[in-house]
Amino acid sequence: MPAVFVGHGNPMNSLEHNHFTNAWVELASSMPKPKKILAISAHWFVNITAVTAMAAPRTIHDFYGFPQALFDVQYPAPGDPGLAAQIIELVDPIHVGADMDSWGIDHGSWSVLTHMYPDADVPVVQLSVHAEKALDFHLDLGAALDPLRDEGVLIFCSGNVVHNLGMIDWGLPNKGSDWAIRFDDAARAVMTTDPGSLPSLLALPDFRAAVPTPEHFLPLAYLAGAARAEGSVARTFLEGCDMGSLSMTSYVVSD
Ligand code: ZN
Repeated sequence: MPAVFVGHGNPMNSLEHNHFTNAWVELASSMPKPKKILAISAHWFVNITAVTAMAAPRTIHDFYGFPQALFDVQYPAPGDPGLAAQIIELVDPIHVGADMDSWGIDHGSWSVLTHMYPDADVPVVQLSVHAEKALDFHLDLGAALDPLRDEGVLIFCSGNVVHNLGMIDWGLPNKGSDWAIRFDDAARAVMTTDPGSLPSLLALPDFRAAVPTPEHFLPLAYLAGAARAEGSVARTFLEGCDMGSLSMTSYVVSD
């Protein structure tokens, strides 16, 4: 089963049909249907690595100031307590907590999954992104999770390689600012040739603008780690920026 990183961007993409969401639909139709989904979303960014372990995760509307229709979205995919237990054992000695009641499926996941698997019939567990850990930790954890792919689990990472809400430019729909494009290009060069060298991006002059906070960038490390584990590379299935300071560039690792 492939592993993917999807640039989710504006939550309104959940309700829209545009060239981003078309690419997500095409991605899903290009792959075998997964048996289960392990979602690693920018929006569960806490001081622990945890995995949702409830049988029926709730749909979380973790945003403000959007139309009611977005708050009405439900993504009632079942959970998978067995997969959660398997993950906790698989990545030992990295500690993963079993979350029974605090999280669920957040919009980093469902804004894309509503397009990829609209029937919500594939079980979903989410893994949190540990806020206190360095990039290497996330790469290593991505590598440790890679064997799940052999069992039909889709490793589904959702963030944005470039994500700077303070520099959003509404006058640049479907476009990126020069610095955003530069950083996005540099990330693509790494992901398509040597994903394990992802930490080299930290030294780039544009890193601070592209990644002012780490949560949207870090899910990419899980894909890079999965690729590294296979001696493989990623390829893009969607490229480009939106509103100046969001990269929508998205990747898949097929082997
Ligand atoms: Zn987001």
